Amino acid sequence: MMRIGFGYDVHRLEEGHELILGGVTIPFEKGTVAHSDGDVLIHAICDALLGAANLGDIGSHFPDTDPGNRNLDSTQILRHVLKLIHDAGFKVINVDTTICLQKPKLAGYTEQMKQHLGQWLPRKALSIKATTTEKMGFVGEGRGISAYAAVLLEG
Ligand SMILES: [Zn+2]
Repeated sequence: MMRIGFGYDVHRLEEGHELILGGVTIPFEKGTVAHSDGDVLIHAICDALLGAANLGDIGSHFPDTDPGNRNLDSTQILRHVLKLIHDAGFKVINVDTTICLQKPKLAGYTEQMKQHLGQWLPRKALSIKATTTEKMGFVGEGRGISAYAAVLLEG
């Protein structure tokens, strides 16, 4: 049986915070404001994985009211979610993502993100795309960052 999943995440961007995407720290004057490390890419992927398996969402597994989740490394969230997926009898077939960010350009970092995430996700079936929003909306104005992910599971 094949199951499709979809995930979306958004965080505010402010000075004095780190910008971490797909487990890779991107040098930039602003970073994500979040309870965890604010990795929108991993969060979108995790929600897509959980959605495909109908196992709730990232907030139900890692509530932001839990002080134990403060500054949580999102790679740990991904590994936990993948364990849930595997325990439920599913295998990840492919992952397709889009990060929406006005600045900085991410083209030079997507390979590193794939390398990092490819340790737990199917490396050759992992797509990471990036787009601006043509200076429109909260992303275009540099106030935030968002990410979309679609996954296919077989189980
Ligand atoms: Zn998030």
